[in-house]
Amino acid sequence: MSRLIASRRLASNICVSKLSARTFCNDASAKLNNVPNSSQFNKELEDEQGFTNDVPQYDIAIVGGGMVGIALASSLASMPLTKQLSIAIIDSNPALTNGASIKKDDPPDPRVSTVTPATISLFKGIGAWQYVEQHRHAYFDRMQVWDYTGFGYTRYNARDAGKDVLGCVVENKVLQKSLLSCLQASISVSAGLFFFSTLEMKTEQNKDFKKTIYSTRLSSMSLPTRSSVSAAGDLQSKSLANLAKLELSDGTNLYAKLVVGADGSKSHVRELAGIKTTGWNYSQSAVICTVEHPAENFCAWQRFLPAGPIALLPIGDNFSNIVWTMSPKEAANHKIMNEDDFVKAVNNALDFGYGPHPGSRPFSGDILPSFFRPDVTSSANEGFELPPKVTKLASHRMAFPLSLMHANQYVSRRVALIGDAAHTVHPLAGQGVNMGYGDVASLSNVIADGVAVGSDIGEVTLLKKYEADRKTANIAMMAVLDGFQKAYSVDFGPLNILRAAAFNGANVFAPLKKNIISYASGELRLPFLS
Ligand SMILES: Cc1cc2nc3c(=O)[nH]c(=O)nc-3n(C[C@H](O)[C@H](O)[C@H](O)COP(=O)(O)OP(=O)(O)OC[C@H]3O[C@@H](n4cnc5c(N)ncnc54)[C@H](O)[C@@H]3O)c2cc1C
Repeated sequence: MSRLIASRRLASNICVSKLSARTFCNDASAKLNNVPNSSQFNKELEDEQGFTNDVPQYDIAIVGGGMVGIALASSLASMPLTKQLSIAIIDSNPALTNGASIKKDDPPDPRVSTVTPATISLFKGIGAWQYVEQHRHAYFDRMQVWDYTGFGYTRYNARDAGKDVLGCVVENKVLQKSLLSCLQASISVSAGLFFFSTLEMKTEQNKDFKKTIYSTRLSSMSLPTRSSVSAAGDLQSKSLANLAKLELSDGTNLYAKLVVGADGSKSHVRELAGIKTTGWNYSQSAVICTVEHPAENFCAWQRFLPAGPIALLPIGDNFSNIVWTMSPKEAANHKIMNEDDFVKAVNNALDFGYGPHPGSRPFSGDILPSFFRPDVTSSANEGFELPPKVTKLASHRMAFPLSLMHANQYVSRRVALIGDAAHTVHPLAGQGVNMGYGDVASLSNVIADGVAVGSDIGEVTLLKKYEADRKTANIAMMAVLDGFQKAYSVDFGPLNILRAAAFNGANVFAPLKKNIISYASGELRLPFLS
């Protein structure tokens, strides 16, 4: 009996490895590709191994191959302890499988992310940053924040914190594609070490690096319960009953020791695992697009307006990205107004619209007693500057309703949530996907620790270590962002003065400025958390 079980399991493993080998050994553009649907799959099993009704088993099923889900797959593929894990990525997004390449001179996309130095380090560690650098991206070392009342402004310079850059703005499709290229490369490098020339030999070599993309969606999931395991008959049924079983919308079934929900803010995994959330809508939407200006921009600009902030973020060449928060009604208007009117509205919002410029002479601190005089930093000496004038739209416009959402738990037995599936934040400080990348780094390490000691990687006691690591940090960041959102959505005289004082304080007090930069860079926890 046990020999039969062993040979069935072997058959299943061989079959999965054949599929992924085919996946990875084809033409580079199709290295990560669709697997056959379940009927083809079972037919193949029947033909080649003489078994039917077998369902593929994976160590990890990542539901959602967005910027965060693919990062987890790449991160695991890059670590010695986890690179041999078999991973299924489930997402119907054609960008994952169509093999289309992105060219540096393609028109810019409206969806971009500001990534922090901590995220850049993660990408470098995985080996994905070299691919980002082959595409359009823009490092920035300066940032100017001001508000429409004209009372104050803050300029940040990477030098204030002894850094070269404050961050880098990258199109979302570039982040995703770079991680995918890295995943492909890590697998071909592993297989290519031996320079095998034939498909069969590569197949043999690739069996330790099973990564398969299912170009479909998750439709249902059953998680093991004590009763389902004890009701299962033989040993094999018991071991399957102890795994998560996923049903995909094309009818494919698969088993996994761990299901990672990386399926965004409306996560189906979270819902199927019965994990509740806390949160609220902001009654604000963000209009985003890419615009062109006469010269290259190296600074990130953000001005707080009565209805919300507008940001102009460099993305390379003569392009910048606009993220403009406003009421949903205004957003609907700004999305469809004619191009010239929109460009005028943007220039107005970044210049004299709504109120005067702040005085351009920096606050020297002369009026304060000497012991309280600020340690004037290099950027505190910089005067207020106007952002570049926008000349035309360079992409279509999109509008997103904004909300805050936090999952009450990040893990349950055989399930872990990462990225927007676990937390969604206001984009005003560009932290959302960076928080997701923090989750990726933490969960990868926890899985590696589990593999090192031979633990079951879907066990909740192990997964709780990931939750403990990330929940506190994410809640703290969410509280800061929510506080900012609230402080800047009230137009009330005394509060405006306080805000201006906060701007000026942050502008001239070097230690405060250094801490703000380090925290926003993802390299420092808030003092009460360290
Ligand atoms: C206007 C705006 C500006 C932003 N700017 C920044 C910024 O500058 N910096 C920053 O850090 N963050 C920013 N963010 C936040 C950032 O975009 C998100 O945090 C990020 O997209 C989350 O990535 P994710 O992979 O977790 O989820 P998503 O990007 O939502 O990806 C989820 C994936 O799951 C797939 N999926 C969903 N359901 C299923 C299913 N049932 N089966 C299989 N697959 C499924 C989807 O197809 C998708 O590919 C911004 C957000 C907005 C709205």
